[in-house]
Amino acid sequence: MKTSDVIVIGGGLAGLMAAAVAASRKQSVTLLTYGSGSLPLASGAIDFLDAKNPDAAIKNLPDTHPYKKIGAKAIDASTKFFCDVAAQANLPYVGRTSAQIPIVTAVGTLKYSAIVPESMDATKLADKKKIFVVELAGLKDFYASMIVDNLKKYFPDKIFETAKIDLKLLGGRDITCMDAAQLLTDNEQPLANELKALNAGGDDAIIIPPILGVAGNFSRDIIKTQLRAEIFETTCLPPSPAGIRLQRAFIKYLQKSGVKIFENSKVVRGVVEGKKVTGVVVENVVREKTFPARKIILATGGFYSGGITMREFDSPKETIFDLPVFFPTGAENWSNQQLFEDKPQGFSMTGIFTDENLRPVDASGKILFDNLHVVGANLGGCDKIFERSAGGIAISSAYKAAF
Ligand SMILES: Cc1cc2nc3c(=O)[nH]c(=O)nc-3n(C[C@H](O)[C@H](O)[C@H](O)COP(=O)(O)OP(=O)(O)OC[C@H]3O[C@@H](n4cnc5c(N)ncnc54)[C@H](O)[C@@H]3O)c2cc1C
Repeated sequence: MKTSDVIVIGGGLAGLMAAAVAASRKQSVTLLTYGSGSLPLASGAIDFLDAKNPDAAIKNLPDTHPYKKIGAKAIDASTKFFCDVAAQANLPYVGRTSAQIPIVTAVGTLKYSAIVPESMDATKLADKKKIFVVELAGLKDFYASMIVDNLKKYFPDKIFETAKIDLKLLGGRDITCMDAAQLLTDNEQPLANELKALNAGGDDAIIIPPILGVAGNFSRDIIKTQLRAEIFETTCLPPSPAGIRLQRAFIKYLQKSGVKIFENSKVVRGVVEGKKVTGVVVENVVREKTFPARKIILATGGFYSGGITMREFDSPKETIFDLPVFFPTGAENWSNQQLFEDKPQGFSMTGIFTDENLRPVDASGKILFDNLHVVGANLGGCDKIFERSAGGIAISSAYKAAF
């Protein structure tokens, strides 16, 4: 097997981004992954930090925080690269890391995020006269009246109207947003006709679930040109077309860039010579296979995707290289008494610590491997859910490690 310049392990947001960045730098890249990571569940928005100005807030984080290793330059460059890859798949994103953009959630609250799909950018709702919220017959977990009740709290001076459209998708059976998006792809006209019948004007907005396409914004473009009102998508419960659009945009970029993608490939261990990892071993049904590489990027998703496991309490394990995993000792520090408390959860801070080049270190700060880099949810030192930084850490750490 030919030696790759870079092997990326894991095909979630961090792994896809790392492979794309490495490929853009003319490196030969192999991506090894199994499962599909968390993108199909995610909103599609990229959160950097729960702060009005994430850039400014990042400066005040402790030195152990992953953003402090990644640095402002890589954070900024990562957002540009990310938006460029998405745009190439006709999936425009908007935003910057020095501000937050509102998007409408599936229940009608506003969620603020730094980089969001253009189709969800709800900034312009403030300028609209009337807001139509449209639900589809049979679509699960999307209730126009509940969305209106909640949106009224943010926009008390707007006129709201709800509508229910019956497109008889799947013969009237219950469907998810992903089903609807799939069924409407290349079959957008019935939805366009129903939306036109609302007679929404140029000063109005139409809010719908994220059903406009499963790849890029092609379906949205077809419908948009037929309406006078502006159309906005919400987030939804999983499976999420917006996350899947993002996943497909990256896979398209990787395929175009010549990245070798091996799905259903579980990496079980590294091949190590002194302080160098010379390859990784993949296990499949019948045999093991070694993939040699000059550089390895570990994007295996921490606890969520099995990159880190914990069979015995107080003893979390990184599953491929047996890297040291840092965690808050003592059962009392492992989790908060209340699930929703105003402080990070100990178990969520668990992960691998690194140097400035994202190479894993031991408790004394010693670099363990010269050519192994750790990215995304594997990184320790912060609760990415609590501080709302998961997507931002994924893309910026991937950029830093792969550049
Ligand atoms: C429900 C949900 C909603 C979210 N919403 C948002 C949001 O609104 N905004 C935001 O910024 N972020 C959000 N996120 C977080 C975000 O989508 C990612 O979880 C985060 O960016 C981490 O990505 P990752 O690539 O590090 O890990 P993952 O996405 O978990 O990917 C890890 C990948 O590695 C693979 N893998 C693991 N072990 C191996 C192995 N041994 N060999 C080969 N492959 C392996 C896994 O199968 C998986 O494909 C959400 C996450 C979830 C779960």
